[in-house]
Amino acid sequence: MSETIFDKIISREIPAEIVYEDENYLAFNDINPQAPIHILIIPKKRIPTINDIQKNDSELIAGLFFIAKDIAIKKGIDKDGYRLILNCNENGGQSVYHIHLHLIGGRKLSWIPG
Ligand code: AMP
Repeated sequence: MSETIFDKIISREIPAEIVYEDENYLAFNDINPQAPIHILIIPKKRIPTINDIQKNDSELIAGLFFIAKDIAIKKGIDKDGYRLILNCNENGGQSVYHIHLHLIGGRKLSWIPG
C-alpha cells in the first residue's frame, strides 16, 4: 500500500482547502471541481480501493456518509440534493488509490455518468 497524494494532504506536506477534519477523517475541496461544490471525504487510514475494505472497517466506511451528509447540510445543498460517488479501479475512473467519497452538488447533475 504505497503512499498517495492524499497522505501528503493529511500530513500537510501539500496544501488543500480543508472543510472538515477529525482524528479519523479529512474532507477537502477537489482541486478540479466538477460542480460548485465538490468535496472529497477520506479516511485517514490508507485503504487503496473499496475492494480492500474489511468487516472491521464497517464503522469507518459508514462514517464517510455521515460526514458527507453533515457537510451537505452545512453547505445548504441537502434539500436540493447532491451526489456521492466512490470510484473503484480503472474502469470505475479511480485515479487516487486511497478511498475517497466525492460529494458533488450545487447544480443539477445529469445521469448516467459517461
Ligand atoms: P478519483 O478519480 O475518483 O480517484 O478522484 C480523485 C480526485 O482527486 C479527482 O477528482 C482529483 O481532481 C482530485 N485530486 C487530485 N489531486 C488533488 C489535490 N492535490 N487536492 C485536491 N484534490 C485532488
